Amino acid sequence: MKLVFATHNKNKVEEVRAIFPAHISLLSLTDIGCLEDIPETGKTLQENAILKANFVTQNFGYPCFADDTGLLVDSLNGAPGVYSARYAGEQRDADDNMDKLLKELINKTERTARFETVIALNINNEQYVFTAKVEGVIIQEKIGEKGFGYDPVFKPNGYTKTFAELPLEVKNKIGHRGKAIQKLIMCLKSLAQVTD
Ligand code: IMP
Repeated sequence: MKLVFATHNKNKVEEVRAIFPAHISLLSLTDIGCLEDIPETGKTLQENAILKANFVTQNFGYPCFADDTGLLVDSLNGAPGVYSARYAGEQRDADDNMDKLLKELINKTERTARFETVIALNINNEQYVFTAKVEGVIIQEKIGEKGFGYDPVFKPNGYTKTFAELPLEVKNKIGHRGKAIQKLIMCLKSLAQVTD
């Protein structure tokens, strides 16, 4: 079975491939020849996930899922949230985004935050939505080389290291995307049973 993951983000593809069943061939947007950026004009993570999944299904006809993720910081009233990618501007640069976040939080003692992921899956003319989150704190400086995006400033609760220091297996086990992907995999398994 072929399933498209509607993203150009190689880091997201790597994370998901690491936990996906081997018998499902996971294709990225590049793999199916979709080189454009799908506009993310929704006002919520769910709207954006659905927008991206529907774009692929309508234009390429593959079964497909899309994820949209946001970092929600409590003392910033949930910002950057749905605007996480462009927090510091249209260049969508991870370092610029983290620098802006650390500046906004300077002198703030309340640093709790969470990553939230929404996944929309289009398959067999049906749409399914899965959500997951991970709670943590924003530390004072960037630490770690692994991962991507805001990983160097996010320390999940119960750990002394950031997502950019922890092995991918740990991020996938406790993290927002890994947990949402597990729900998607359960759904694919139950659909396979239904069609057997
Ligand atoms: P999107 O889901 O690709 O729209 O991502 C929104 C923003 O959150 C981008 O700046 C990403 O780099 C960032 N982001 C998404 N997933 C993660 C993650 O797992 N860790 C850290 N940052 C992430």
